[in-house]
Parts: sequence; C-alpha cells; structure tokens
Amino acid sequence: MSDETAALRRQFPLLAQAGGTLHYLDNAATGQIHEAALDAMVQHERYARGNVLRAGHRLAQTATLAYQRARGQVAQFLNAAHPDEIVFASGATAALNLVAQAYAHLCKPGDEIVVSVAEHHSNLIPWQQLRDRAGVGLRFVPLGAGARLDLSGLRALVGRRCRLIALTHASNVTGAVTDVGPVVEQARAVGAHVLLDGAQRAPHGPVDVRALGVDFYVFSGHKCYGPGGVGVLWGRGELLDAMPPSATGGGMVERVTLERADYAAPPRRFEAGTPPVAQAVGLGEALAWMSRQDWPRIERRLAGLTARLIEGLLAVPRLHLAGPLDARDRVPVVSFWLEGLHSHDVCQVLDGLGVALRGGHHCAQPLMQALGTDAVSRASLALYNGDDDVDALLAGVREAVRILA
Ligand code: PMP
Repeated sequence: MSDETAALRRQFPLLAQAGGTLHYLDNAATGQIHEAALDAMVQHERYARGNVLRAGHRLAQTATLAYQRARGQVAQFLNAAHPDEIVFASGATAALNLVAQAYAHLCKPGDEIVVSVAEHHSNLIPWQQLRDRAGVGLRFVPLGAGARLDLSGLRALVGRRCRLIALTHASNVTGAVTDVGPVVEQARAVGAHVLLDGAQRAPHGPVDVRALGVDFYVFSGHKCYGPGGVGVLWGRGELLDAMPPSATGGGMVERVTLERADYAAPPRRFEAGTPPVAQAVGLGEALAWMSRQDWPRIERRLAGLTARLIEGLLAVPRLHLAGPLDARDRVPVVSFWLEGLHSHDVCQVLDGLGVALRGGHHCAQPLMQALGTDAVSRASLALYNGDDDVDALLAGVREAVRILA
C-alpha cells in the first residue's frame, strides 16, 4: 500500500480501525464515511441541534445556518448556479421519485420518456409508474459494444413527444460513463430535458452540471463518503419553479387555509417535514473534503488499479467481465461472473478472506438480462483502495474457483 493510500485510509474511521484486515470493495453500494463528515454530524447534534427554517430562537437559527451552509457546499460540488437549486432528499431513489411524480403532472398522454436498459431500478420503476399513471410512452436506449450505452440511434429514439431523457451518468454494474454531450444535443433539438442519475459518478469527484448542460442531477450521500439518509436533487431553477411537490406537509408552504395551500418556492417546496439536518451537514462536509482532493491524480491511480484488476480477472478461466475492458470513460466498478458458480457463493468465499464485495443483480435486472446472466460479483473501488485490495481480490477469486468449481 502506498503512503498516499495509507494516509487516506487513516481519515476513514472504520478503515483505520480495521487496519489491514478488511479489503472493502463494495463502495458502489455504500462508501465509508470520512472523519470530517462524522465529526461535523456529532458536533451538530451535540451543540447545534434544532429544527430548521421555522423557529426564531438562537439554536434554531444556528441549525438553520448549518443546514443552508450544507446546501451551499453541495451547490459548489455540482457547480450549480444557486444553492436554492439544491433539494435535500433521503437519497437518490427519493430524488428520482420526486422528479417522476412531478412529471406525472407535467406530461400529457402520448408524451414520451427515454431511459436505458442499463438503469438501476431506482431510475426505471418510477418511470414505469409514470407510464402507467399518465399514459406516457417509455423508450429505451439499448446496450452497445463493451456494454456501453449505444447512442447511435438517439435521433430516432428521442422524438418530438419526448419530455425527458433520464440516464445513468455511470453504471453501477459496468462502470461505463455515459457520453452526455450527444444526449443533451438531441434533447435540445426536440425541447426535452435531461436527468442524470449520478449515484455512481458523484463518488468520483466534483461534477459540473452547467458544463454537462443537463437539467436535473441526483445522487446519494452514503456513496460519497457522507452519511446515509440524505441525498440530493439538483434542478435548473426555472424547472424546479414549474414543478409541483410530490410530498406535502409542514415547512413547504407560504400560507394554508382549510381550503388550500400556497406552496413555498424551491427548494423548500420539495422538502416537506423536518429534513435530515445532521445528515445534510455531514454530507456538506464530505463534499467539501472531496472538492479539495486532487482528482486527476486520484483518477490516474484508480484507472491503473482498475486496469490491473481487469487484467488479473481476465486470466481466470471461464470468467466473464460485464463492461468495458478499456480504462476510458469508466468509473472503477468491475463486475464479473464465473461459469457454473453463483456470485453469492463467490462473494461468501471472498468475505471469509476479508474481501467485501457484493454479488447479485445489483438492482439492474434488465441489464443482467441484456448481459446474459442472472447475477454478477462486483468490485467497486474508492479513493482509499490500493494494490493490496486488488491483490486480495484476485487471490480470493482464484481461491473461490479452487473451492467451488
Ligand atoms: N442509481 C444508481 C446508479 C445506484 O447505484 C443506486 C444505489 N445502488 C441508486 C440509484 C439508488 O441509490 P439509493 O439506494 O442511495 O437511493
């Protein structure tokens, strides 16, 4: 393990405590929390706990300031035009549902939504529900070479009735990063909007939503070295302004009578009830820490590790890789399956050797079908992973084959 990796691991309490006994390679499911996020949450709960955006007493004001500061930190991470474009939700799933429910009101029967066959269920089922409730057509971007999205048929797929293209920014199974440019171009040509599910891209460094040219972006805190129970929806201001809320209740209104409610402006309109304040504070600190890292350097290191991992896996007989073999435009997520062995058994053997990775369909059953398998084992790397983790994984896979085959 390099000094750089060791220094990073010391900043993650769970990894620091585990020492060399844990090879944590399930970061696509949940990353480890950074000490800055954890400390900020504890500090907040100990000394600044109060409800937000409601009471005028000093503690409540301190809590409100901390909450709004976190909104600003998220806005910076995404290069959003204004903190009010940041809506806190309980996670990426809740954020996707929020947009889908708003579009159920904004779409007319016969309108269309475009998603892909590679989506996580969280960016598929909300749109299936929208189709069933609002009579909206659902169209799918297919898989192409190297299990990347095949965008060559985009012009035929994204027609005049398309209202929204909702695609993963990076696949939670193949690691492939979507080429967003042509998607935005085609959306603009027909007046549609673009949503990116950034759950797997955000953990790999700050995102520039304005440079990407998209309209909505969602991600989860627990995959970005922050706490669970909090996630983010970013939307362009004028689009959020035009959206109705999905959840209603306290905190999201200007005036309520027995007959009606006048909703507050975004982001409050979309944050009914008491929000997860400490979690937002923790996420803000995690993202601020991420924003200070040298990402080109981290990317080079992780690309090297990913290349070595892929090369090592390809040397294992009867092993199939699910995703691009080259290091270009991919995040360090590598999925594979072994003929005749179930991924759960493989992962169990690896767990016994101190290597944590996940097996199964990874909430992407249509993608599994397109890949021609029921399940895969997935190794997903984060910035604190090193050569020792890759070595342990490769040795573990060979051992699993020896024991199970
Ligand atoms: N989209 C993708 C691509 C994901 O990988 C995940 C998490 N596995 C989600 C959405 C949902 O995230 P959460 O469970 O945190 O809401």
